[in-house]
Amino acid sequence: MSNVTESDDKPDIDPDGFQAKTIGYIHSIETAGTVDGPGVRYVVFLTGCPLSCWYCHNPDCMKMKNGFLRSAGDILDDIQDYRWFIERAKGGVTISGGEPLAQPQFVKTLFRGVKALGMHTALDTSGFLNKAADEELLSYVDLVLLDIKSGLPDLYKKVTGVALQPTLDFAQKLDDIGKPVWVRFVLVPDLTDGEDNIEEVAKICARHKNIERIDILPFHQMGEYKWHELGMEYKLQNTRQADETDVERARAIFARHGIKAV
Ligand code: SF4
Repeated sequence: MSNVTESDDKPDIDPDGFQAKTIGYIHSIETAGTVDGPGVRYVVFLTGCPLSCWYCHNPDCMKMKNGFLRSAGDILDDIQDYRWFIERAKGGVTISGGEPLAQPQFVKTLFRGVKALGMHTALDTSGFLNKAADEELLSYVDLVLLDIKSGLPDLYKKVTGVALQPTLDFAQKLDDIGKPVWVRFVLVPDLTDGEDNIEEVAKICARHKNIERIDILPFHQMGEYKWHELGMEYKLQNTRQADETDVERARAIFARHGIKAV
């Protein structure tokens, strides 16, 4: 028996109405993202983040209440409109932020629905709230995009306001369960680009066999205006943007540890 509804030809993947009742705080939605996981992706950016990274380009994501409310069921309905295109582009659905694990029930419900559609899922997280990523939530995640802001605990604390250790614990947990990971490291001139810091990030990456890819993301100033609009202190006002020479230098440091960073 088919469960396709007569009205819109979409399968009814929420027969008990659970997805419709699970509400999340959303910052924005991108329907054809190309930088948050493989292929073309439907990216849901959530609000709420316990970190306060100096280089955050979405500081309006930090406070959960800055988001708008939408149900997981509503977003899943929307995803189905893009499914055909996304699947042909070998993509999927990414939940980013903000910090998605600040809203674990919403992430769990949304990803459960995405997996019911047979689509690929990626979770973009700093890992700081890793205890919220329980076994069930991780069972719906195909790929973790793990942001490692710094490899040196003191610098990590300075740049983010929180401790590095939960990220390291999460990296180990993901390794233990064999979950594929792409690491992302933001290269900020005169802040995170020190050789000792990059060395430490490389050593962390070298420890884990489940890390499939490492992206070095050059710092840019595109989020600067948001800090000013929000009346928040922006500490990187006079910091230059990272260029290809900076990235090449960082790649060479990763290469010393046998790691090919892109
Ligand atoms: S973890 Fe991401 S959203 Fe949170 S403050 Fe850092 S850059 Fe911004």
